[in-house]
Amino acid sequence: MSHAFNRLLLAVLAGVVAACRPEPTAAPITAMKSNSSTPITNSAPSAVKSDEDWRKTLTPQQYRVLRQAGTEAPFGATYEEFKKQGAGTYVCGGCGAELFSSKEKFDSHCGWPSFYDPANAKNVITREDKSLGSVRTEVLCAQCGGHLGHVFKGEGFPTPTDKRYCINGVSLKFVPTGGGTNSGKP
Ligand SMILES: [Zn+2]
Repeated sequence: MSHAFNRLLLAVLAGVVAACRPEPTAAPITAMKSNSSTPITNSAPSAVKSDEDWRKTLTPQQYRVLRQAGTEAPFGATYEEFKKQGAGTYVCGGCGAELFSSKEKFDSHCGWPSFYDPANAKNVITREDKSLGSVRTEVLCAQCGGHLGHVFKGEGFPTPTDKRYCINGVSLKFVPTGGGTNSGKP
């Protein structure tokens, strides 16, 4: 091995070592760039919009329920529609994530759309809600964090789970099986 080659090798190694020890302040930026182009926001919902955007895209009633955890009046227009709807999927009124299906819906006579189970459980999350002095379990869309309603257990309904997902109709959008308005035509 020649002297010149050894010097070259040392120079290269020094360069490699230098490259592996970036300035402390530069390290987090380098790491973020190499891992992902968008910073990961922990467990935050993925379909996040600004409050202003939600106000633009949702109806005032949807905004009040989905974004402000409001409750629609029972036995409203959406409940009447819900009872008439046939086979299909219920998606989030905010972001379109699949939440419930007509297979798990049942008539609880409570005035709000009711399901005994989410059809797509990964899009439905729950959390404790102590807002009315009692402890209830709030139901939310996992994708956009929108408030859907509450879930109650052990009420004695003759369903496979004995759970009642009591969901605001305005939080949901019904997508009939067959993909739309033409499905009923011969
Ligand atoms: Zn959603």
